[in-house]
Amino acid sequence: MDALNYIDGKHVAAAEWLDNVDPAAGAPYGRVASSDAADVERAVAAARRAFPAWAATPVGQRSRLLRAVARLIDRDKDRLARAEAIDGGKPVTLASSIEVPRAAQNFDFFADAITQWHSEAHPTDEVALNYTLRQPLGVVACISPWNLPLYLLTWKVAPALAAGNCVVAKPSEVTPMTAHLLGELCSEAGLPAGVLNIIQGLGPRAGSALVAHPEIRAVSFTGSTRVGREIAGQTAQRFVKASLEMGGKNPNLIFADADLDDAVAQTARAAFQNQGQICLCGSRILVERPAYEEVKERLVAQARALRIGDPLDPATEQGSLVSRQHFDKVMGCLELARQEGGRVLCGGKRARLEGRCRAGWFVEPTVVDGLGPACRTNQEEIFGPVATLQPFDGVDEAVQLTNATRYGLAASLWTRDLSRAHRVAARLQSGIVWVNCWMMRDLRTPFGGVKESGVGREGGFDALRFFTEPKNVCVKL
Ligand code: NAD
Repeated sequence: MDALNYIDGKHVAAAEWLDNVDPAAGAPYGRVASSDAADVERAVAAARRAFPAWAATPVGQRSRLLRAVARLIDRDKDRLARAEAIDGGKPVTLASSIEVPRAAQNFDFFADAITQWHSEAHPTDEVALNYTLRQPLGVVACISPWNLPLYLLTWKVAPALAAGNCVVAKPSEVTPMTAHLLGELCSEAGLPAGVLNIIQGLGPRAGSALVAHPEIRAVSFTGSTRVGREIAGQTAQRFVKASLEMGGKNPNLIFADADLDDAVAQTARAAFQNQGQICLCGSRILVERPAYEEVKERLVAQARALRIGDPLDPATEQGSLVSRQHFDKVMGCLELARQEGGRVLCGGKRARLEGRCRAGWFVEPTVVDGLGPACRTNQEEIFGPVATLQPFDGVDEAVQLTNATRYGLAASLWTRDLSRAHRVAARLQSGIVWVNCWMMRDLRTPFGGVKESGVGREGGFDALRFFTEPKNVCVKL
């Protein structure tokens, strides 16, 4: 099946195609529309035509339509999870238990949020009444990556639509299929034509044409820091709003007093879930010295026990990396870790499978130690199943090591001393700090990073604020 554009309520091809590859099989299984500036123009024009009626649609009706999409995602959960597993090489159980349910939840959440939103009034003594209108921006761009394709696409599209904007979305060319299917579900749910449009294709071609389009009023981007920097430059030139969710090199801090059963199990999950291809994955594991040897031993045992297999097999815990290109990058990082003097404690090489997956791009879960904080392996995002271990002594060194990168997306810390947990959390340069947990999400909280991990916040009312423009109305009394 081909992954098409979705413009003005219909699926349409572009003039050119790209291969759509199943990374677990290491071979193409379909095609993706490769859009250009003309396709982007058609999508933006459709969105512009749909905007006045959509912005004027009562909030209750917008909310009902978003909920209808959520129910169809629930109905098609298995089909969507299978599509996600084939496109991205991820275990189908991960897609069906976490990612696809979360996509439905994104629509449900913003269907609720928009009905509960309010704005401020500022009575100015007895002379005036000021109030704030929050109005939709118009046509907005939502650009998403390959690691959690439907989950992250809907995390942007749902608040943008709830707030009354029309959207041109650009999913990753590496994992286009669930975006294609989302188009079908939106039509079936009765979303008016042109309210959501989806442009498939390459970032530097379709994505950059979208960002450069003069009618785009805001760009919500999730992806690499390199591309985020480019988009920040373009949007700044045109004074267009940008929300940027970018890379990370997240620390997982384990103090010696932590519940080590829980800390190690969750640290292994944080390091290796989705083959380490989650922006929130904890790839730098920092352990207080008295617990270092024990954590190391247990973590290596858990990494070795992870079952690598066909993503479509429900028993599989580790699938393939998302693409040949990404596999090559991760293998290059493993080589670099060795050159830098790292000791590979487990993994460190390609995993070879039989049958359908014999040509797939699988990498063994890998733990490396013996590297200092300044080396490239501990500074650069790998975004694969590779974690490093470093010891620390005391709170000050823990904080210093945690903050010693250009990133600041998420941190986890593990301790039974809650007073220390609060004090350390306040000192970490990180948009999110999890205490005794990892990736526990409440969609009302602000989501985003500091330093080179992000600009702006998604989630809850922050997302609705991003997708609207506040207007002060001052009435003289
Ligand atoms: P990427 O930056 O290569 O691509 C992201 C999206 O941007 C894709 O749809 C791509 O086609 C598009 N794109 C690429 N070049 C573009 C351009 N010049 N103009 C407009 N669009 C362009 O990222 P990726 O490899 O797909 O995803 C992995 C990265 O995403 C990692 O760095 C990861 O940390 C990050 N990520 C961050 C978060 C977060 O919430 N902070 C979440 C998930 C992933």
